[in-house]
Amino acid sequence: MKDRGKWISYSDKECISCGRLRVDIWENGDKVCEKCNMNQETKEYENDYREFI
Ligand SMILES: [Zn+2]
Repeated sequence: MKDRGKWISYSDKECISCGRLRVDIWENGDKVCEKCNMNQETKEYENDYREFI
């Protein structure tokens, strides 16, 4: 399981997958949509993401 560190804030950009303004920015630089779990840089779904909430 990846360690993203702390939650920083929401991105001001819409999710590339679902178009919602719910992209979380993490301490390690990951940007992952809260709704559909898509990583905005790798364009892959982060299925382990919910473990951190
Ligand atoms: Zn999304």
